[in-house]
Amino acid sequence: MPDTAPLYEGKAKIIYPTDNPHILRSHFKDDATAFNAQKKGQIVGKGAINCAISAHLFRLLESQGIATHFIDQPSSNEMTVKSVSIIPLEVVVRNIAAGSLCQQTSLALGTALKFPLVDFYYKNDSLGDPFLSEARILLLELATLAQIEELRALALKINEILTTFFQDCGITLVDFKLEFGLDQSRQILLADEISPDTCRLWDQSATDPNDRVLDKDRFRRDLGNVEQAYAKVMERVLSHSV
Ligand code: UDP
Repeated sequence: MPDTAPLYEGKAKIIYPTDNPHILRSHFKDDATAFNAQKKGQIVGKGAINCAISAHLFRLLESQGIATHFIDQPSSNEMTVKSVSIIPLEVVVRNIAAGSLCQQTSLALGTALKFPLVDFYYKNDSLGDPFLSEARILLLELATLAQIEELRALALKINEILTTFFQDCGITLVDFKLEFGLDQSRQILLADEISPDTCRLWDQSATDPNDRVLDKDRFRRDLGNVEQAYAKVMERVLSHSV
């Protein structure tokens, strides 16, 4: 870890400056939180696992034309990234009903959705990251209409690429959260991370509904074997070349 003072510390990562003002270093922590940080813990080895999975998936997405903030992975739990101004939206893509979609609708857990759903949430911990309509995003000036449309199109393209990739790994991509930022020239770049912390991933070789869970739901729901599940995702992801 660099001995420079961090620029920012979040729940899962610490961001450090570098000699280049356009490049940052993102340090992935083992700390785990859920339910808007009401539940806290540690998942041993999570930082390195999520960093490796994210780096691999960012490389995959870049190879298929998605612009990301990823530059390289100088150590096991650190990534160098382009400095961006984060758009305060959590962009969630859903293929199968789970989590808040089941709590807020009549859809049962595991229902295959007729089309991938793109939902926007306000990235604001003090408000509990509430769901936002397009009109509310415009009202709050969190993004322009053109940016909302671009975010939706990018999210759907990323979903296609990741769904195919995870399918090859024997994993079903149920849903996931993305964050985007604007670079110096106001281009939208995919930022943050893509990992078992931010995706729901179900093992296609497991029959039991609890055994199949390979993501943060194991921590949220105290299902046990959290580290093993994260390690299984990493092993399968890294063994499938980009
Ligand atoms: N998610 C996330 N960070 C958040 C909220 C959700 O990474 O602050 C991910 C979550 O892991 C899941 C997807 O987004 O893969 C959809 O989450 P949902 O809205 O169902 O909320 P949850 O059930 O996680 O509260």
